[in-house]
Amino acid sequence: MLRNVDVLIVGAGPSGSIVGALLNKENIECLVVEKEHFPRFVIGESLLPFCMHAIEEAGFLDAVLANQDKLGFQFKNGAAFTRGKDKIDYRYFDFCDKSSVGHGTTFQVRRGEFDKLLIDEAIKQGVDVEFGVEAKEFDFTKDENGYITVTLNNGDIIKTKFVIDASGYGRVLPKTLNLETPSSLPPRMAVFTHIEDNIQEPLYDRKKILITTHPEFEDVWFWLIPFSDGRCSIGVVGEEKYIFNRDIISSQNIEEVLQAHVYSAPMLKRLLGNAKWDTPIKSIHSYSANVKTLYGESFALLGNAGEFLDPVFSSGVTIAMHSATLLAPLVARLIKGEKIDFEEEYARPLNVGINAFRTYVEGWYSKKFQNIIYASNENHIVKRQVCSILAGFAWDVSNPYVYKSDQALESLYQICKDEN
Ligand code: FAD
Repeated sequence: MLRNVDVLIVGAGPSGSIVGALLNKENIECLVVEKEHFPRFVIGESLLPFCMHAIEEAGFLDAVLANQDKLGFQFKNGAAFTRGKDKIDYRYFDFCDKSSVGHGTTFQVRRGEFDKLLIDEAIKQGVDVEFGVEAKEFDFTKDENGYITVTLNNGDIIKTKFVIDASGYGRVLPKTLNLETPSSLPPRMAVFTHIEDNIQEPLYDRKKILITTHPEFEDVWFWLIPFSDGRCSIGVVGEEKYIFNRDIISSQNIEEVLQAHVYSAPMLKRLLGNAKWDTPIKSIHSYSANVKTLYGESFALLGNAGEFLDPVFSSGVTIAMHSATLLAPLVARLIKGEKIDFEEEYARPLNVGINAFRTYVEGWYSKKFQNIIYASNENHIVKRQVCSILAGFAWDVSNPYVYKSDQALESLYQICKDEN
């Protein structure tokens, strides 16, 4: 079958559903093709408050709020950090106490259900979506009407003026067009599962993601992401040489490896002592990725199809959604006949936030940012500015920790170091 659409969106994850809804609001005819049938599993369960703005703009907020109990979404208002072996340090950030103006709370979600809810809302708004269909081949030669050609795995041919790659880990266009470049971050892996947590600790705060530094390796960390139904997501992240380190872990069996690491951290051992490990373990390797360019004459990359940094600050879905809100109005203007400078209007503004997150991710692994988080000499104004970044407001250039983030982090580190 041969069809014409103004815009073809590849992938129905958060970036695909948001961009589809926003283009539809601009009366741009678009088709989303998604190779899986939803709900499908994808990792990335702890959202940041800033992404609630994209959810709201796309018209999905009411549905998210109405379905939070039914789908086990856990209300989230911050992030907590812990480290130590004998003496345990614990710090938390309350996302409502941040310097940037905007949402201060969000949710922790099973992405299968969450992503399905968003794309179902886009469909209700009139977006055309096909599941179980993969975008396979791209011919960017324009025909006489300015259409390029995309072939799907079912043999259908789509003639379109613009392709938005929202394929996430699929990275369809970076692979097809040879756009991939190495990430500045070393390859790390994550091993994770869902458990019935049975946490009985009265002071444990389910409303915050808990990030725990490994007691032996400062480069390795755990996430504990509770849902609202007594279950949670637990994972360990680090370079393979640490995850399978034979001095610490005798087994190379991935189920035992995850449990051995988790129970080596005193705080997690205490919290998860009665946990039921009832779900197969998954792993993902070398997930950090980058590209030479985020756009071309007839395409642009969203979310993970562009750059993906690291999961430590849960920035992935927020970057994916924000990229969609930046791109949608530009593509709408392009289809309506305007000339668009994608460098100035898309790549540069998007990279402001990505670069800020990069500073703090690199600062986490260099330990500078970990030392800032655990510093005893807390300055309330600075803490609120750092809290804004952790809440996802990494595009708020009025925050000195966004603009020139490298220098801001370095000076803060020097202050914390000198006063400790
Ligand atoms: P995706 O969510 O990956 O969606 C892309 C969709 O495209 C998929 O449904 C896929 O089936 C489809 N697709 C792929 N190829 C094709 C094709 N050829 N044709 C049609 N469809 C196709 N982020 C957070 O915000 N919070 C977290 O706590 C968090 N934790 C993470 C933990 C780990 C270990 C990792 C690696 C990442 C984590 N992330 C987290 C990041 C998060 O997973 C991603 O950033 C997010 O899913 C990106 O959304 P997306 O819309 O770009 O892509």
